[in-house]
Amino acid sequence: MEKVRTLILGGGPAGYTAAIYAARSNMSPVLYEGLQPGGQLTTTTVVENFPGFPGGIDANTLMENMREQAKSFGADIRTGTATAADLSKRPFRITVDGNIEIEADTLIIATGAAAKYLGLESEKKYMGAGVSACATCDGFFYRKKTVAVVGGGDTACEEALYLSGLAKKVYMIVRRDVFRASKIMQERVLSTPNIEVLWNCNTKEVLGDALGVTGVRLLRKDGTEFDVAIDGFFLGIGHEPGSALFAPYLEVDGQGFIVRDGYSSRTSVPGVFAAGDVADKVYKQAITAAASGCMAARDAENFLIEKGL
Ligand code: NDP
Repeated sequence: MEKVRTLILGGGPAGYTAAIYAARSNMSPVLYEGLQPGGQLTTTTVVENFPGFPGGIDANTLMENMREQAKSFGADIRTGTATAADLSKRPFRITVDGNIEIEADTLIIATGAAAKYLGLESEKKYMGAGVSACATCDGFFYRKKTVAVVGGGDTACEEALYLSGLAKKVYMIVRRDVFRASKIMQERVLSTPNIEVLWNCNTKEVLGDALGVTGVRLLRKDGTEFDVAIDGFFLGIGHEPGSALFAPYLEVDGQGFIVRDGYSSRTSVPGVFAAGDVADKVYKQAITAAASGCMAARDAENFLIEKGL
């Protein structure tokens, strides 16, 4: 069985940054990229808030650059997704793609988070036929059409703004009478003429026919129910951390985010470190994920030194 000093799971800003630092510290890191190489950022277009790029940078280019940077220092970056984990003892044992077994002295979990769904049967039914959680991936199909975005946070606002440039009309379905999003995003949404916010509304049903989504049934807080005709239904209600494989072994919070020890990347299992959105429900930015990837590599290096590994 292959044994490595540092195994990194996740190909987003956290994982690649951990790989850059670990490779430069001669930790011979092996990184498996998971289902979405480049991470969640690849579902967006231009990144305007990553320092060092006045004018912004294309998200895919940014991720490809991080990947190349890690490789240039010798990080072994591989395609594959962790499918099982045994963190009950060291070396930790990880199974990749169901058949590759790998042992690791230190493990950096940077598996990110995935979009949440409402959990409606009708939402499932029209998945890929008008229901999407990624405006930048699927918005193109709704040019000059009518769409709805559920949620009132930054994700929903970002999706609505992106879609407003393509679609004829964008409804935002917000369950309270206020946004959760940052002020700047709220202002942008409210000053975009083809975005209409439906306040105090919950989605009861996604409506459709054999060809896909045709509308949405909403329930307003005052008890009134009404239908809105739409062609596309986009989720923007937050994210689920990719921690399920590891949760039986280490401490996670009520929502499944991995709990870290103070201002560090240390988890409740010595030798296992967490970086990026899998452990961050507050900041969730590419830059904070990258920073925590750096911390994880440094913490893993110190662990290897302490244990003489
Ligand atoms: P948030 O948790 O911030 O917002 C989720 C939104 O969805 C809230 O309005 C919430 O309503 C609503 N919601 C949740 N569940 C449901 C449900 N079942 N039905 C209807 N509505 C629901 O998640 P985001 O993904 O928007 O943002 C997460 C973090 O990432 C934030 O810190 C945000 O600032 C950051 N972010 C930053 C971006 C940027 O800087 N460009 C872009 C995207 C995200 P309620 O408010 O009532 O709870």
